[in-house]
Amino acid sequence: MNLPIHEPDNEPFIPRRPSDDLPSQVGFETICTHFGEASHVVGGPAAVPIYQASTFLFPDAEAFEKRKAAGSPYYEYTRVGNPTTAVLEAKLARLEQAEWCFCLSSGMAAISAAINACVHAGAHVVCAERCYWPTARYLRNYLPRFGVTTTFVNSIDPADYIAAIRPETKLIYIESPTSGTMEILDVRSITAEARRRGIPVAFDNSWASPFYQTPLELGCDLVVHSATKYIGGHSDVVAGVVCGRDEQLRRRVFREVELVGGTIDPFAAWLLIRGVRTLGVRLEQHQRSGLAVARFLAQHPSVRRVRHPGLESDAGHALALRQMRGFGGLFSFELHEQSREATHRFIDRLKLFSIGVSWGGHESLVLGGNFWSQDSQMPAWMIRLYVGLETTEDLVEDVRMALEK
Ligand code: PLP
Repeated sequence: MNLPIHEPDNEPFIPRRPSDDLPSQVGFETICTHFGEASHVVGGPAAVPIYQASTFLFPDAEAFEKRKAAGSPYYEYTRVGNPTTAVLEAKLARLEQAEWCFCLSSGMAAISAAINACVHAGAHVVCAERCYWPTARYLRNYLPRFGVTTTFVNSIDPADYIAAIRPETKLIYIESPTSGTMEILDVRSITAEARRRGIPVAFDNSWASPFYQTPLELGCDLVVHSATKYIGGHSDVVAGVVCGRDEQLRRRVFREVELVGGTIDPFAAWLLIRGVRTLGVRLEQHQRSGLAVARFLAQHPSVRRVRHPGLESDAGHALALRQMRGFGGLFSFELHEQSREATHRFIDRLKLFSIGVSWGGHESLVLGGNFWSQDSQMPAWMIRLYVGLETTEDLVEDVRMALEK
């Protein structure tokens, strides 16, 4: 089959694209739109192609032998590198103010790769007790098999994290806001002392996304994400991210990706590139609606308390403003009536919030009741709302109706 080829005056067709060499001060959305793409676009498609290939071919034996010496990105096998994934990794590294980034097949693949990169048999980890529950389970139940122990800190006081450090501590692992209880940790106080002692700090930034928080600027060494959440943004992909600045850490994380093999699939990477393009505009809408729903709940007589760090009344609000630029759509609250019946009644009356785990997509979600029984940190009758991209007034009205009907 002969396909038409663009041949104006027999000149080669060179697509005009903004350079990757963007000025250092360009804004978030400009990076989302342009960065990382210039060198990967062959023949001019506006969308990044999906290189859905396991292996890459070489023109001759010598080129194959010298592939590493070539220096510039070369691709050999998708478990260790892929051109579609490379575009995504370049964008995310820049958004997180990092030097490097690896994308993996899930948030947990990214989290375990980041932790494994820092520990060895006999090593000790300090971890926030209220972090994402399976992360705590990985440290508590899985890593002891390999001689790695963890002290969990059930507090948001930085002094308690410092006090938990031992001579063999190789990693401090934190999350802020904590994904269940929405508490804010004083990140700079923890990282300043960790740096003095040469201990890397890993940070789960899924809640805020790089749009509202850049933990490397707060002194962290590794940032991880469940890209399943805001970065994907459409509830159609499971993926994870690890990024950082330090070259030694990059090598160690790469070893985890390459050998354990939790690499992202190119199609998932492509979906995430599409998600990243609208990350900033989506987060602004999540913040707007999230705060509107939280404020409505906070003044309602049926509501005992709302946990949203963006509310002026929240215990973590002042600290949050010192280390974050804004807030997403995930928060929790408790009804005055603390019972299974009241919780279920509220949840079942909602029409726009579906009952489901996860968050970060376009659709509003709710969880509550016995769901938290596996997590001792969560009050039994806490209700978690994820405020999606529906019209703000409709969401407030849905919550009002569920409380008052
Ligand atoms: N971190 C946080 C804060 C999460 O909420 C989740 C998932 O819900 C994860 C990590 C794990 O990500 P994944 O489900 O993509 O493995």
